Amino acid sequence: MPAFDPSHIALPSGHFIGGAYVEGPGAIEVHAPSDGRRLTPIPNGDADLVDRAVAAARGALDRSGWAGCTPRDRLRALHAWAALIEAEAETLARIEAVCSSRPVAQARTGDVMVTAEQIRFFAEFADKEGGRTVPTSDKQMGFIDEAPYGVVGAITPWNFPISMAGWKLGPALAAGNAVVLKPSEMTPYSVLYMAELAQRAGLPEGLINIVLGDGPTTGAALVEHPGVDKVSFTGSTRAGGQIMESIARTGIKPMTLELGGKSPMVVFADADLDLAAECLDRGITPNAGQFCVAGSRILVAREIAEALAEKLAARFAGHQPAATWEAEPGFSPIISERQLGRIESIVSAARDHGAEVLCGGGRFDREGSFYRPTLLGGVTADNPAVTEEIFGPVATFQTFENEEEALRLAAHPTYGLCAGVFTRDLSRALRVTRRIEAGTVWVNRYGRSRDHILPTGGWKASGLGKDLGREAYLANRRTKSVLIDL
Ligand code: NAD
Repeated sequence: MPAFDPSHIALPSGHFIGGAYVEGPGAIEVHAPSDGRRLTPIPNGDADLVDRAVAAARGALDRSGWAGCTPRDRLRALHAWAALIEAEAETLARIEAVCSSRPVAQARTGDVMVTAEQIRFFAEFADKEGGRTVPTSDKQMGFIDEAPYGVVGAITPWNFPISMAGWKLGPALAAGNAVVLKPSEMTPYSVLYMAELAQRAGLPEGLINIVLGDGPTTGAALVEHPGVDKVSFTGSTRAGGQIMESIARTGIKPMTLELGGKSPMVVFADADLDLAAECLDRGITPNAGQFCVAGSRILVAREIAEALAEKLAARFAGHQPAATWEAEPGFSPIISERQLGRIESIVSAARDHGAEVLCGGGRFDREGSFYRPTLLGGVTADNPAVTEEIFGPVATFQTFENEEEALRLAAHPTYGLCAGVFTRDLSRALRVTRRIEAGTVWVNRYGRSRDHILPTGGWKASGLGKDLGREAYLANRRTKSVLIDL
């Protein structure tokens, strides 16, 4: 039973610059992954267009005094925006569901409402965090002053369009910056509407500007623009590397990179097996595995492996696909046929390397881009399904003999985003947590829990800097050390 008719949704189009929609050259096709229908094409913003957006952001800072107004005024304005986002939750969720892999009910509660809450969370830092004085001799005074960067250039991926934009906009604005944000070219509409709501809520014109286009054209122009004072990126490790390279080439500036992952789920023999099966399922099937913290490498103590594989396969088999506009959330589509083809080719390469398909292993037999939850056994550390981020509902299943071997398998040569640990032994849980190389470890659970205070971000090639938490607010301020001889 559909919650709404996708052909009746009015999708915003055009860039959003200086408080108004702006058309531009270039046309990028956008498709609904649930049934492949064509949606409103978007322009491909070039360097001139990006220049216009950066000028609008700078102008907004100069005109409105956003950075210099009382922090309480910034806080109030952001609360008003959050309230409007909540009031428009249904419209935003529908716009999100049309072009993305997010089922409308989950987009409403998990993305829109949580994003509004996070905007409020960051707004609260505005009048509570500040510089500090430091100890000096009584003939001197030293203090650390703080200031926003100015214009933040943000680039976000397609997997959670509203949430990822919120992670960038909330702390950047609360900290006193203006933002030019480029959403993914595959999921552009909801972020435009968020910016429109900010405008309606009374945020200064040009404080949030949305530029549309692809990575090599619009994204690269944004990163390289000399008027962008800081870059905040979420996406693949490949694109993160390109951005680092282009910043090194065109002018050093600060950056935050939230990149890919290949997170291990380590299940010890004493774990609660039903709880572990539930968490392993929750670690790879929501959003069809298209989330950075997906627990895609399952590592299980040999003595419980068979029982756990059976429980997990039963859970995987229970997932039924559904279009994102269905009222009852179903298993999500893969964002594009191209991404689905990539999943198929990695699974095929994994099989060539000896992997055995324990369940799933192909498309669902229906329209749209849907791939079955898949478990691959018989893999070694060099199997492509173990080494590469698949970004789909595919997990590998390996066994270990003891704690040392579990830790050895858990360490990935490239990534260090998250990990799950399942055991009833508290000492072991703490010991393993301490030794795992990852920015986040969840013990006997998997996933966030509206714990916005916990920063998120990867070790190793999974990232640089943090989103969420106090750290994300501070990452949008720069410090100035002042020493005065009295
Ligand atoms: P992607 O890297 O292909 O694209 C992300 C964004 O970057 C898009 O807006 C794209 O247009 C832009 N882009 C691409 N190349 C660029 C370039 N050279 N210069 C500037 N911009 C460029 O990633 P995706 O396929 O959209 O998203 C999936 C990836 O995002 C996965 O690797 C996933 O792990 C990662 N991700 C990480 C987190 C995190 O918090 N660590 C969160 C969500 C997604």
